[in-house]
Amino acid sequence: MYQLSDRINNMSTSQTLAMAAKTRELKAEGKDIIGLSLGEPDFNTPDFIKEAAIQAINDNYNSYTPVDGYVELKDAIINKFKRDNGLTYDRSQIVVSTGAKQSLANVAMVMLNPGDEVILPCPYWVSYAEIVKLAEGVPVEVPTSVESDFKMTPQQLEAAITPKTKMLWYSSPSNPSGMVYSKDELRALADVLVKHPNIIVVSDEIYEHINFVGEHASMAQFEDMYDRVVTVNGVSKAFAMTGWRIGYIGAPAEIARACNKMQGQITSGANCIAQRAVITALEAPVSKIQYMIDRFKSRRKLIIDLLSDIPGFTITEPEGAFYVFPDVSYFFGKTLNDYEIKDATDFSMFLLERALVATVTGDAFGSPNCIRLSYAASETEIEEAMKRIKNALSEA
Ligand code: PMP
Ligand code: GLU
Repeated sequence: MYQLSDRINNMSTSQTLAMAAKTRELKAEGKDIIGLSLGEPDFNTPDFIKEAAIQAINDNYNSYTPVDGYVELKDAIINKFKRDNGLTYDRSQIVVSTGAKQSLANVAMVMLNPGDEVILPCPYWVSYAEIVKLAEGVPVEVPTSVESDFKMTPQQLEAAITPKTKMLWYSSPSNPSGMVYSKDELRALADVLVKHPNIIVVSDEIYEHINFVGEHASMAQFEDMYDRVVTVNGVSKAFAMTGWRIGYIGAPAEIARACNKMQGQITSGANCIAQRAVITALEAPVSKIQYMIDRFKSRRKLIIDLLSDIPGFTITEPEGAFYVFPDVSYFFGKTLNDYEIKDATDFSMFLLERALVATVTGDAFGSPNCIRLSYAASETEIEEAMKRIKNALSEA
């Protein structure tokens, strides 16, 4: 028995990754599980990006890179921010990291002192709360529900702010709800924040391109907020590059410098080949990846149509990302076969064991009435999964 640190003992395991591991395990045992748990595009990385990586290997890109990223990559990120978001950053404001997950961890570690509060509108992405706690911050959850389209109102934000509030973190398009804040909705939140000038915002925009309702809006686009926003982005989702591990931030220079210092002691620069490939990815017009976005859009319709046909699931139509987040509280207190369904975790386990479909409990995201289904899966898998869920419930 080893004496591990309180830090790790107090941390929960990532439930998205745990469910993915369980799915792999069950599949290895020969069980025919359909995995709708992990938020990972099922496409291959586009060929033009793969070719850039092969070229980089042949060109002998093998040394340590600058800690905050190759200058050419920073310039590609600067151009991307300008082109897609109308945001102006210079090189001192950009830090490239090993995935947006590390970008978020850097920001938490450089901004938070013990006891600092971080407002997390629920549902939030699974790792936010644990990253904040790792940095000794205190997550402050603001509940939203299917009835409010999973959006935090300005009144809720105002009510959550205390003298200890240091940051607000959110993702739009949202993982896990698929909610997208419009520019007007962000402005209304900004109107609250301008009254509290010490609060820093983390705007996680990793699903920016997977947006079915219209234009993507960034909090940093508001002049009176620009100096207080860390814009987080990455290539995992839109470019189908989850395993390449590249994320980045645009931030006030002082915060970027601090992230650079943190990363310099922990990981150094991100992988050199992946960085070269991402230059090519970001320089390409968005039209090059549109085929994947179009497929997500048609799969969204498919899964919504099929789920709507199953009694007990209450759905808001997701506006972006590739998740549906139905409220399944209808089943709480019921017994399905031998399964007593007390909460979303029980329901998710019932689906895994009886329908052989892997989902993630809403508990992981701070919304205990819901479960998350990822539709970054093939049409055949989605159809089969919905059929299995329907059958398992009707036989229960
Ligand atoms: N933010 C959100 C909202 C996500 O869904 C993910 C998915 N993993 C990440 C950040 C981290 O992305 P990555 O580390 O793969 O860049
Ligand atoms: N972001 C994805 C998800 O939410 C990948 C898993 C993870 O990084 O936790 O499923």
